[in-house]
Amino acid sequence: MVDRFVPADDPFGLKLLGPVNVALFFDKRLDHIKITGTIKGVLEVACHRCLNPVSLTHDEKVDIYLVTEGQSEREEEKELEADELFYEFYDGEVIEVDVLVVEQIFLALPVKVLCREDCRGICPGCGVNLNEEACRCKSRGSRSPFAKLRLLKKPESKD
Ligand SMILES: [Zn+2]
Ligand SMILES: [Zn+2]
Repeated sequence: MVDRFVPADDPFGLKLLGPVNVALFFDKRLDHIKITGTIKGVLEVACHRCLNPVSLTHDEKVDIYLVTEGQSEREEEKELEADELFYEFYDGEVIEVDVLVVEQIFLALPVKVLCREDCRGICPGCGVNLNEEACRCKSRGSRSPFAKLRLLKKPESKD
């Protein structure tokens, strides 16, 4: 479900590891709809440093106040918090619940996801995952990729 709404440049590489448990209550009033409830699910995102998958448990309360754009302009005096308004999901008649759920999941994601506190990331030089392998840049000499190249060239130069 999420895949449809995840932007192509999603830095999180968000995936769902199971069904999302959505329990929402809609309280429809004349001028607004109040949505409360919970969204629970297990997500998988890429570690910001090493890109390894990290699973996150999403268990967030939802508390949204939906108004149509026209109404909100007339009711500016209510001084609602900007982040409580989700115009884009509500045209006055239809609420796009799945879009709303995905948006809520994205909003709750931490700014930076790390597989562990001291994740060492990927070496920009040799590209190894430094959590799993030692950096190969440091070991110069016979082990360097250039030494390998020289070895490969030797047989050709014999004739
Ligand atoms: Zn990591
Ligand atoms: Zn390296």
